[in-house]
Amino acid sequence: MADCEDCGQEMLEAATCRVDAFIIRGERFDRIRQTGAPIGRGGRCGDCGIQRQGFHHYGCDLEPCPRCRRQLLSCGCGDDPEDHDIVDILAVAGDVVVHPPALRGLHVGAGRFPFKEHADGPAPDRA
Ligand SMILES: [Zn+2]
Ligand SMILES: [Zn+2]
Ligand SMILES: [Zn+2]
Repeated sequence: MADCEDCGQEMLEAATCRVDAFIIRGERFDRIRQTGAPIGRGGRCGDCGIQRQGFHHYGCDLEPCPRCRRQLLSCGCGDDPEDHDIVDILAVAGDVVVHPPALRGLHVGAGRFPFKEHADGPAPDRA
């Protein structure tokens, strides 16, 4: 399996992704840890390979959305409500952005953090 592009760890070896929160539409949500079923071979997530009590690697089929509790990949919370081609979700480890790659290393403070990434490339400046 490949490395996680966000935390840089080998997915079959890492116990958890280092991403611990998402900023969705400018609001911070702590991620939901893997507890109980479903868990795959060797006690690891059958999709992304993390261990019980870990955080899934971003993009895992089995990660619940911390905002609505549905499947994060399909719930739509990370989409701009007015333009579904615009992605409005940041993955952060502590207060440092790790996804999208264009913003990696950026520090995010408390409060709202407006960011939108167009699915086809950099966001148009709408300010
Ligand atoms: Zn990861
Ligand atoms: Zn997973
Ligand atoms: Zn959601």
